[in-house]
Amino acid sequence: MSDIIHLLPDSVANQIAAGEVIQRPASVLKELVENAIDAGATVIHILVREAGKNLIQVSDNGRGMSETDARMAFERHATSKISDAADIFSLRTLGFRGEALASIAAVAQVELRTRREDDEIGTMIEVAGSRVFRQESVQCAKGTIFQVKNLFFNVPARRRFLKSDNVERNHLLQEFFRIALVYPEIEFEYYDDEMLVYQLIATNTKGRIEAIFGKSQKKKWEQQLLTVETNSTLANIRGFIGKPEFAQRAANQYFFVNGRYMRHPYFHRAVMMAYDRLLQPSENPNYFIYFELSPESIDINIHPTKTEIKFENETAIFSILSAAVKEALGKFHIAPSLDFDTEGAPAFPASPSSNAENIRPPQVQFNPSYNPFNAGNTYKRNFSDWEKLYSGFENVEKPADNTVVSKNIFSENLMQNIENKIDTDFFQLKNRFIVAATKSGLLIVEQHRAHVRILFDKIIAQQYANQSFSQQVMFPEAISLDTADLLFFADLQPKLEKAGFIFEKTKDNTFVINAIPAILNTSSVENLLRKIIAESKNTQQNSVEQLYETIALSLAQTAAIKSGQTLMPAEIIDLVQRLFSCKNYIYSPDGKRIITSISVDEIEAELG
Ligand code: ADP
Ligand code: MG
Repeated sequence: MSDIIHLLPDSVANQIAAGEVIQRPASVLKELVENAIDAGATVIHILVREAGKNLIQVSDNGRGMSETDARMAFERHATSKISDAADIFSLRTLGFRGEALASIAAVAQVELRTRREDDEIGTMIEVAGSRVFRQESVQCAKGTIFQVKNLFFNVPARRRFLKSDNVERNHLLQEFFRIALVYPEIEFEYYDDEMLVYQLIATNTKGRIEAIFGKSQKKKWEQQLLTVETNSTLANIRGFIGKPEFAQRAANQYFFVNGRYMRHPYFHRAVMMAYDRLLQPSENPNYFIYFELSPESIDINIHPTKTEIKFENETAIFSILSAAVKEALGKFHIAPSLDFDTEGAPAFPASPSSNAENIRPPQVQFNPSYNPFNAGNTYKRNFSDWEKLYSGFENVEKPADNTVVSKNIFSENLMQNIENKIDTDFFQLKNRFIVAATKSGLLIVEQHRAHVRILFDKIIAQQYANQSFSQQVMFPEAISLDTADLLFFADLQPKLEKAGFIFEKTKDNTFVINAIPAILNTSSVENLLRKIIAESKNTQQNSVEQLYETIALSLAQTAAIKSGQTLMPAEIIDLVQRLFSCKNYIYSPDGKRIITSISVDEIEAELG
């Protein structure tokens, strides 16, 4: 028999290795921009087309390459940055493995033009799928231009694996921010198709943060940031944190160590601890924190796509960081004192139930004269007047099929009793849970989630009955978007218009909302739009249906009764009954569990 082991052709080996380094357009962007920085560039221009799937172009005014180097650059393990393993420990450059260009060239069509300052003529090279197709002398400016076209053109499986344009766009921008925030002294321009999205002049760190994130803010970022600075033998920490009042749901949070972006969930906790009690639960502070420390005391994961970094003195640095953030907050009289007494009064009123004076034993609210069987619909208030908007949809057909979710989690018997209102006692526990006691056991319903489910289903039903029906608004609201959000908005706008919005562009980044879907009530349209934009960055597709769901969910959440709200007995019963007429009454539309049960059997098994 003949031997069966053979070496893979270089092109195949390269393609496999490329998978490690190049996962998506954003990886290409990162590698090219880092190379430009390593080459000493002071001006870097970036252009992407079709979220980088079609083209990623990076041009720099750095030192350029000789004809031979330009050719060598595409070889695996070809680097000008280290020549000895020991050099790794004294690294001053971002790259060093000499793998990026070889990897990119293995899975894309690459065109390079480069010229050193002292050379009269530059070099042009075309490589695709690791094969050099052309190399010739060309006239070109000092520096280097890389064009990477049709990423994964020869690896269809990977190309298919890429996410929607908006998701890839978000990755590209995140990668760009991570680099631009570390090199404020370098000038950047970022074009998405023909649109100049970012024009960042050389400045300092604070100026750069403001230039990137400041546009949509009513109040200048300058006034939102507090300086953090602390020097110790273990680490120097500097940077900026946001004042608590500017905290937001999707905050900008960045850690850097020795000039590289890193993720560090543990240090994140240190920052959050310092903000303790200064934020509402769903809010997050902005932060941009830069660590400088001796390279020996950190373990930079040399894997090119990993951003987690291990620190030798993690716990000590945790304390230093938390103290530094607290000090910054304290200096501006935001935190009451430096060693904030955790036993003290909370800075924000907590929910009433956590306030010692208000703690009461769970109460059974019972109206002896109330008869559920002739309840008719004697009350209407209190599920918020807002809900009246939807009157007429009360009789949305009850789906016959309840099998979407398994019923076995509580006994059929129990369910039936409740549906038939037979022998059922209802009461409210902790103003949050509704407990239904029947002959066969207990059923526990989370009131807010239950109402979210009910309203959500209703709104969706109305949306389908009444698609794209617009309603003029009396006092049009304006919404200004920062440049990143504008990109995503461009994609969403036609779909939003299909759903009933009418926008009018007034200034570059400002839209007036002239009409909204009839289904919306006019309050907080801006917040809703921002939420939709934020979500579009992370979802695969933004179909009109998904938009409807986002809108419906957001409306349902705002309008639903809160947990903590006391309910009248009639309201309790009505809520439970309406919950059970929903197709999926076990989970809320955002995937949270609504009900649980304990059967008499289980109680008996427990108690013997
Ligand atoms: P690494 O950055 O790890 O050295 P790369 O594959 O990214 O490996 O690049 C290979 C080599 O190509 C670099 O070491 C550098 O000498 C050269 N090079 C790449 N991009 C540029 C650029 N924009 N300007 C000048 N030289 C470059
Ligand atoms: Mg490199």
